[in-house]
Amino acid sequence: MKKIDELPENVGRIVIAGHIHPDGDCVGSCLGLKNYLSVIRPRAQVDIYLEKFSEDFGFLQGAGEVCHELPEREPYDVAFVLDCSDTERLGDAVKYFTTAKRRICIDHHITNEGFSDENIICPDASSTCEVLYSLMEDSFVNRAVAECLYTGIVHDTGVFKHSNTKEETMRIAGRLITKGADPSYIIDETFYKKTFAQNKALARALDTAELWLDGAVIGSVITEKDFEELGIGSGDLDGIVDQLRVTDGVEAAVFLYEAPEGKCKVSMRANGSVDVSRIAREFGGGGHVKAAGCTVSGGWREIIDQIAGRIAEQLEH
Ligand code: 5GP
Ligand code: MN
Repeated sequence: MKKIDELPENVGRIVIAGHIHPDGDCVGSCLGLKNYLSVIRPRAQVDIYLEKFSEDFGFLQGAGEVCHELPEREPYDVAFVLDCSDTERLGDAVKYFTTAKRRICIDHHITNEGFSDENIICPDASSTCEVLYSLMEDSFVNRAVAECLYTGIVHDTGVFKHSNTKEETMRIAGRLITKGADPSYIIDETFYKKTFAQNKALARALDTAELWLDGAVIGSVITEKDFEELGIGSGDLDGIVDQLRVTDGVEAAVFLYEAPEGKCKVSMRANGSVDVSRIAREFGGGGHVKAAGCTVSGGWREIIDQIAGRIAEQLEH
């Protein structure tokens, strides 16, 4: 598939799914595709399945119609899997993918090995939303689609500042503004705005952060006790690892939080020579060279030791 418009005119039932813990690029790409399909294939029935996501994205058209429950369904004619590097990351929506008659994955994760029948994976693209725009006919991109795609690009580029931000990224973002996306609103409402709880969580993580490997790595943990004391949830921790990363002199930042069932969720960011996607993949996760993550069983101290060891190995070479 080179363009979404190649879908048959009479395409019937379509399912769209993204990764667990949906972020801005995941929500933006799923809704952007659905809104685009409603323009080019208005008779198709399109369902989106995603885990619950931040209310900050509630203004995007169709956000309220996303299904969070997963009942048994007749096999779909087409399944789109977006921003998802492996079937495990699909969570329970994998059942709709497995049974669908035609399966298309659109993604930009370097760790995506092409698990679908049709794979459109562009590791050089800033975001899945950027890949998706390149598969759309510009004339059919309306304001609703533009707002979704712009949101995804903003989130995966950290507001156009990560190294994945290219000329093409800015060109597309500019086009989306012309189509009606409002940069100030989208960037403030969905990226910079923090709840009181989120600021408290950030404060705790910064206050308890430590430097390792002679200051080359910064790390911090939010424990179950922190969750209780601060009255926060795992959804309040976005952006913490990015704040750790901008510490002067660090090569990499590692942020962990204690998750259910004796596991820890790990987020990693790199500044210089460290490839955190390699480390994440080794621990069963994935992502990008400079931003990756994984969920690991065990106590946070031992996980930190192991990850710091892997970073040290990379820094030595
Ligand atoms: P974050 O640290 O913001 O959760 O994720 C950074 C990047 O790594 C994102 O692109 C995300 O998709 C990827 N990532 C994070 N956690 C996991 C994981 O457990 N498995 C995989 N495959 N990718 C992950
Ligand atoms: Mn993405």
